[in-house]
Amino acid sequence: MKRKRKKINNNKGASFFKEYNFEITVLLMFFLGVFLLIENMEISETLFYLVKAIIFFFADFIKMIRDSIYTTLNWLELSDLVGVILILFASYLVSIRIRIRLLTRYPKIYECQNCNSKSKLKRIQKRLKHRIIHFVLRLRVYNYQCDTCYTKQLIILTKKR
Ligand SMILES: [Zn+2]
Repeated sequence: MKRKRKKINNNKGASFFKEYNFEITVLLMFFLGVFLLIENMEISETLFYLVKAIIFFFADFIKMIRDSIYTTLNWLELSDLVGVILILFASYLVSIRIRIRLLTRYPKIYECQNCNSKSKLKRIQKRLKHRIIHFVLRLRVYNYQCDTCYTKQLIILTKKR
């Protein structure tokens, strides 16, 4: 009998918070509201300065970019501009040639081209020049090594669309 009563008491203690959960929450919200009202002025002022600073920062940033474009355009004369365009176009054409040459020279292979063994090609780490090819020419570069004769083989593929 005693044990049972204790259990009931415990349940009552736990149910106190359950029952007044709403009141406690409302009270906390009330005090938070009062606190915010008192602090309101300072908070809004700080927020205002923060937003202002962010907007001014972006405005300055955009102005800086615009000014630098203007200066660059003023600095470049028309002949210079034509020269730059020609150089860019020429390098673009050269890059296309290099791409095609690399793609035909290093096609997708599954077996070693040196010893013609059936052993599997193992992927090894890329070197810096491979990373440059990957980055500049937008090509997928894989470096493989034969398990039998240790000949290194490069496979270059176009990027997946
Ligand atoms: Zn081999």
